[in-house]
Parts: sequence; C-alpha cells; structure tokens
Amino acid sequence: MKLLMIHVWNEKEVSYRGRFSNLLSYPSLTLATLYSLIPEGIFDQIDVVDENSQRVCYDREAYDLVLLTFDTSSSLTAYKHCARFKKTGAYIVCGGYHASALPEEAARHCDTVIVGPAENSLPRFLQDFVNGTPQKVYKDYNVCAADFRIPARDKVTRRKKLRIPALIANRGCGNSCKYCSMRTMWKSDPRPVKSVIRELKELRSRIVIFYDPNFFADREYALKLMRAMKPLKILWASNATADFGYDHELMQEAYESGCRGVLIGLESLNSTSLRNAAKRFQDADKYKEIIDNIHSHGIAVNGCFVLGFDTDTEEELLALPERVDKLGLDLCRFAILTPYPGTRFYTEYEREGRLITKDWSRYQQHNTVFQPKNMSPKRLDAIYRKVWRESYSWRRVLKRTFSSPMAKSPYVLILLGANIGFKFLGIDKHRRGTP
Ligand code: SF4
Repeated sequence: MKLLMIHVWNEKEVSYRGRFSNLLSYPSLTLATLYSLIPEGIFDQIDVVDENSQRVCYDREAYDLVLLTFDTSSSLTAYKHCARFKKTGAYIVCGGYHASALPEEAARHCDTVIVGPAENSLPRFLQDFVNGTPQKVYKDYNVCAADFRIPARDKVTRRKKLRIPALIANRGCGNSCKYCSMRTMWKSDPRPVKSVIRELKELRSRIVIFYDPNFFADREYALKLMRAMKPLKILWASNATADFGYDHELMQEAYESGCRGVLIGLESLNSTSLRNAAKRFQDADKYKEIIDNIHSHGIAVNGCFVLGFDTDTEEELLALPERVDKLGLDLCRFAILTPYPGTRFYTEYEREGRLITKDWSRYQQHNTVFQPKNMSPKRLDAIYRKVWRESYSWRRVLKRTFSSPMAKSPYVLILLGANIGFKFLGIDKHRRGTP
C-alpha cells in the first residue's frame, strides 16, 4: 500500500512566497511527528510533501491513502487536493487545526477526519483502515506526553529551509487568550525531561527552537528541563508570556541553559485590549520594565502585536512604530486580528454578525476578515501595511539592532540578519495582502 502525507499550504501564500520567507521557515515538525506515528509494516511506500517547498503531484503515483494536515488559511487548498485525489480513488483523511475546529466542514471533503492530536487517533485509524473498518471521525485528546515519539525528521525535506531544528517540550499553555486556536488542539502535559534531553542530543545541533506555545507555562517543569539542558551547551529560543520578565530566577536559569531569545505576544499597548482579549498579563504600562528585565539577563525579546482590537483607534495604531521604538525590543512583528474558527473571538464575532468573509484563504493575519469597531476593514489593512513599513525602515532596522543591549554581544550579526529578514517578511506580507 502507498501513503501520501501532505502539510498543506495556502496556495496564495506558496505562490507569493519570497526568498526571505523561505529562508525564515523551518522543516515541518508536524509531518515529522505524524510520520513517527505510523506503525511499521503497513505501507510499502510513504511519500511526504511539505507544500512550503514542494509541489503536490496528483498523477505521479496511485496512492491508497492520502493524509492532509492544514490550518484555516490552507483549508481551501486542502479541499482542492481532496477533490483531485478522490478522483484517483484514494481514501482521504484530514486533520490539523482547521479540521479539528470545523470537523463537519472537513468531513464534506474527505472520508475520515482526525479531530485534535493525532498521537492516539492516527494509529487507531490506520489499524481500522487496514482491517477495512475506518470510522468517519477519530477524536482523542487523552494523549500522554510520556508516550510521544521523537519526530522522524530525516523523512521530511530540509530544502530551502533554515537548518535550525525545532522541537516541543510542552504543548500546553494554561492560558485562554480569546484569539488563540492552540487550545482547540493541545491539552497535554509536559514531556518527560529525559525524553526532551534525548531528542536534543539526537539533533546534534548547537542551536534549536522550542515551538512550545509558552515554554515557561509550567514553571517547575521549565526549571527542571533547563537545568538538565545546561551540560548540552546549546543555544535556544522559544515563546514566553510577559510575566516571564518578572521572574528573575527563571530568566537566570534560562540564560544559563542557553536561552538567547524569547518571543512574547505583547499584542497591544492598550491594557483594555489585553483585558478584552482575556490575556493573563494585562498591564501594558509594564512592558518597558519587563523588556529591560529580560535584557538584563542577556535574553533578546521579539514582541508581537495584533492590530484590530475593539479599543484600537486609527491614531493609536498609527503611533505604534514610534511607541514600539520606546520599548527597546530587538525584533517586532505585527498581525491583523484574525478570529479563527474554534476561538472565542470567532464565536463572538459570528454571533455579532461581524465576520465579513468566510473565505478561509484570507484568514492569514494580513487581511481584515471582520468588521473592526473604529475603522473600516480596508483602513485597518492599510494601517497594518504602514505599520510594518515604518517599523522596518532601514533607519529603524539599524537603530533597533545597534541600540539593543545585544549589540555588544557576539549575536549582533544574528540580530541584524533577523531584523533585515523581518523587513523583507513584511514586504512579502504587503504583496500577499489581497485588499
Ligand atoms: S498565551 Fe499564547 S498560546 Fe497561550 S492561549 Fe495565549 S496566545 Fe495562546
């Protein structure tokens, strides 16, 4: 039997992807993880396509089973693939964020939907498939982190990608921000420290990225893991929440274990917006102090902002580049608020009749897909592009890099490269926007 696994990418994104976007992307951890769940001996051939850098060919092979994983913005592309492979007689399975949030929709395009994490469901489906008794839906959130396999990275292409490997120690977050779709997928506990250390050793890389939604979500676990990581002498970065910047013990241990950067969803400089989005940390006036604290421990901060909260006014958003300058971030990113299916914002906006499109391919965070409170969708699009452009003018790129506390460290060139990379990522986003 032949299996094809596809990590689907929004076709608009793929066709517009620029060189810098490609350089800044990573090999698909999702595909490597799914691959590791397939029991040996079922398939004679397993092909893997990461659409971020590979094309899907419909006619190259006659597959018995096609498995697609995708998020909301890629779902329409995924459904096209489903229709094409259906014609070849393949059995089609859909999974991932979007299929988990809207399983009835996905079920209209495929034979089986896997809702939630695949750790238990995929092997169970495969067993049923082999026995000729596949079910329509598999849903099992009771995955045990202790049983996680090490992703089969060697089976997934690395072409055109950063060579920095990614891994996950703890999929859980513990927070419930209204715009976040993570919670529809992951309800797991942290992996055993030993298993993470074994994976780190197998990676044989001096630099890694932890994809954890919030590396420090379980403080005691994070401390244990970081202490165990020290002898490995690797450098790493991950996601954190703003309160990390008040925990000096955690920051010190993070630095000593090799942490040199954290990405924090600061989201807004308006505390009311933070409150309305149900962020756990809701005091935007403390951001400067937090960033200074993290810097004092030798860790760089990439701050992410969301445009389009109900309390956002045009004036406030237009002042963002200047206000962000004052925070002293090392990098910054911007996104338009996107109420993804499965999130609390989606439910609210749908109830209020504020979703202006359900063309999922536009749910990419650089198009406005809802009616903002204080401006038109078009105006929000335009402001978003202006904010990116101004925040990544050459003057700001150089100033941000060389006024950063990291400027005196050996990482200054990495910081400069990252800022230049983000400048072009922003340009890519302007091009990809479909006003
Ligand atoms: S802290 Fe991050 S991962 Fe956690 S719910 Fe909020 S946005 Fe999602």
